[in-house]
Parts: sequence; C-alpha cells; structure tokens
Amino acid sequence: MDEDERYSRQQLIPGWDQLKLDSANVVLVGIGAIGSYVATVLVSSGIGKLTIIDFDTIEVSNLNRQLLFKNEDVGKSKSETAVQRLKEINPNIDIDFFHKKMQDVSVSVFEQADVIIACLDTFIDRRWINSMAVRVKKPLVMGGMFAFLGNAQVIIPHETACFECQPLVPDEELAQACSPFGEERKKERQEIEIEPPLPAVATLSSIIGGIMAQEALKLILELGEKLTNYLFYDGLPNATTIIELKKSKECPACGEMYKLEQIEFVAHPTETVKELRMRLMLTYGLEKPDLMSQGKLLEAESLIDDVMETEKTVIYVLDKNLAQPIKIVLQKSD
Ligand SMILES: [Zn+2]
Repeated sequence: MDEDERYSRQQLIPGWDQLKLDSANVVLVGIGAIGSYVATVLVSSGIGKLTIIDFDTIEVSNLNRQLLFKNEDVGKSKSETAVQRLKEINPNIDIDFFHKKMQDVSVSVFEQADVIIACLDTFIDRRWINSMAVRVKKPLVMGGMFAFLGNAQVIIPHETACFECQPLVPDEELAQACSPFGEERKKERQEIEIEPPLPAVATLSSIIGGIMAQEALKLILELGEKLTNYLFYDGLPNATTIIELKKSKECPACGEMYKLEQIEFVAHPTETVKELRMRLMLTYGLEKPDLMSQGKLLEAESLIDDVMETEKTVIYVLDKNLAQPIKIVLQKSD
C-alpha cells in the first residue's frame, strides 16, 4: 500500500499540515460511544500518538452505539480491544492503552499530551480530568450526551473558563451518567444509590464526537477559533446553542487559590475535625475530603484544640474532585 496516498486528499485542505498531526500526542479518556468515534477520526487522520485510558469491559448493551466493538468482544477490555481495531484501520499510528482508572495513571502521561480528550459520563470523572488538565496546563476537549442532547467544550487552562468555573447543570443531574455503566461501576453506583441513567441515541456519539474530534484537530493544526464556550445540541429540533462561559476567580479548579502559596482558613477550637471538614466541603465544592497533618489523617471525632498544637497548623486537603491536594493554613480562632 502506498502510505503517501493515505493522507493525500486532506493535505489539499487550506492550512492543513500533516507534519503537525504526525507529531501530536493525544490522550483520550473514556472509549465508549463518543470516544470510539473520536479515536477513529484521529487515527484515520494520522495523529502521531494516541493513548487510550478506560477500565471498563465491553457489554452487549454497548454494541448499539460503541462502533469499534463487535459481538465477539463482549467481556473484553474496551481500551485493549479499541487499540486492536484502530491498528487495523491505520497500522502506522503509535497507539497505547491503560486498562485502569484514569486516577491510577501516572501524571506524566497527561503531562506529555498535546491535547487531552475526555469522553466521560459522570460528573465526578469530568471534574477530576478538568482539574488534571488545569494542573498539567494542557488543552482539554470535553463532551457528553444524554438522550437526544449533547454538549461540547474546549478548555485552555488559565486562559478560558474551565469545567468548574460555571457549572451549568445541577450537580444531581450531572452526577448521573450519560450512558449505561460497566459491571464494575454498576456495583459502585448501587452503593451510592444513584438512579439508573437515561441512555443516549447512537447518532449523538458521531455528532458530538465529530465536533470534539474536529476541535482536537483544530488545536493541533492551529486552525480556526476554539470552542471555548459551551456548545449545547438538541437533536429533536436539531438546534445548536452556544452558551458563553466566564472564567471565575473563585473557581475551585483554576481559580486564584492554586496560585496562592497558601490559603488561610479559620478553625474553631471547640469544633471537631468532622465539622471543619464539612465547612471545607461547602467552601471548595468537595466531595468527601480527607484532612492530613504531618503525614497523618485527622480523625473525624478529634477536637480542633487537640489537633492544633500551635496557633497556625498546615493541613492538606485531599479529595477525589481534586487532582492535587490543597494546602491550607489553619488559624485558630479566639
Ligand atoms: Zn475554572
């Protein structure tokens, strides 16, 4: 096969630079319906390196819309199977995978990316990848779908609004997934009693996936304007709305607090660690933080007066919504 022929048509597009694509490193998190479409486009177009992260296995109920998978794949790893299929489409691409949770993948994988693409279906996971993109300062292309609805957004950390700057949908809505879960996560979800999600129509994955892949290509090729506002698509009237987003100084992910050397927070001697934790949760939009001081986790029932030996004590707040701990200087109140 004449490999020069493979990309010959797209190279006629004004502004197209195949060498830029060839040297691009893309990390794609979540290889479900949207992820399958995005990966297929990027691999066919000739990006240099693609790393796929997903810990799910393929289920029969995935096959109506996750286009990289076949009957015989049920029960297999999504990320590993996707790599096999993508290599059949284009054997020239360097494709790697991690069959594990993104939270367990080394930070260096994200640091080496030119673009991170998140095709994730839960609010918690989207918050996490957003804070990781902010941490490693890499462009993030995000999108999701729900029934006939879809959304997409490009985040340039510290330049444009991030996912947390202006939450557009109530937390309880976003906590629901946009597609059915893998077996492992079904169990996890049952434990925290979240209603089963509404699935999305298969067509949405190529509409939203197409927009996301296009944004990734534009970022790599440095073409056009970035979709840094929130694109909302409703398939029933076939309407697209762009909602303007503003960067927030108070944002828990990209706001000023990460630029500060330290954050001061007042602790009352008579309150318990549990009460302090609740106030920190409300202030910083955290899920279930752990508080650490001098390398030890603070016990929930301990009194602040017993925990703080001096007027000021440094603690670290760890939370699954944060890609990095927040350093806080506790100041004991009178
Ligand atoms: Zn933000």
